[in-house]
Amino acid sequence: MSRLASKREPNIDVLSGPTEGLLIDVLDVLESLWGQEAVPKVSAFDDPLDGLILTVLSQNTNDNNRDRAFDKLKSLYPTWDQVAALPSEVLADAIRVAGIANVKSTRIKEILEVVRQAFGSYSLKGMSSWEGGAVMEFMLSLPGVGPKTAACVMVFDLGLPAFPVDTHVARFCRRMGWVDRSASPVSIQEQMETLVPEGRKKGAHLNIISHCKAICRARNPLCGSCPLSDICPSVVLN
Ligand code: SF4
Repeated sequence: MSRLASKREPNIDVLSGPTEGLLIDVLDVLESLWGQEAVPKVSAFDDPLDGLILTVLSQNTNDNNRDRAFDKLKSLYPTWDQVAALPSEVLADAIRVAGIANVKSTRIKEILEVVRQAFGSYSLKGMSSWEGGAVMEFMLSLPGVGPKTAACVMVFDLGLPAFPVDTHVARFCRRMGWVDRSASPVSIQEQMETLVPEGRKKGAHLNIISHCKAICRARNPLCGSCPLSDICPSVVLN
């Protein structure tokens, strides 16, 4: 764990985030624990539209229900042309397990229509040559798509540098004292985007989520088993 083994470091400023050295050290520790910079446990879809719809399904539910809804939808209606032609109620039935199915079915149909109008078909493959700023702008123009969803598609399906901040990543950044305790995920994403090195964004995002699910849990974090406890200002030792 090298430099992190020293005492808790006072070099954190919630206005500017962690120092570069501290951030890199923490990312290194998380990589040694979870290894997803070297071997990410997610793979890109052939068409970024699949990744976008999967991320829409993930809103307000867990990964398991998201995946069950996506798999059922794709097995019943393998093409986005078929999905776009479905009545909203039928689409909602297919994705019911992901929760708020009526809202999500309406959003999905609206998104598919915007994509068809913009690209001439139900596909986002045409986006593969776009720059990050243009992708983000287009994504944010879609109904129900916010910065986190846009960043997920960018980093996972388009290979662009982005650092999505979900509830886990937000909790970790707050507990580490890198951002204000009341900072929203959107503002944390804005701040951390500029701090996490470009080539490490995807793996860092995945490692932090793994760490938060296993150790830095929302309730009863296992600080006694956390290799960051020496430098974490939120450590709770039982
Ligand atoms: S010491 Fe505790 S609060 Fe801090 S990162 Fe580790 S598990 Fe989370």
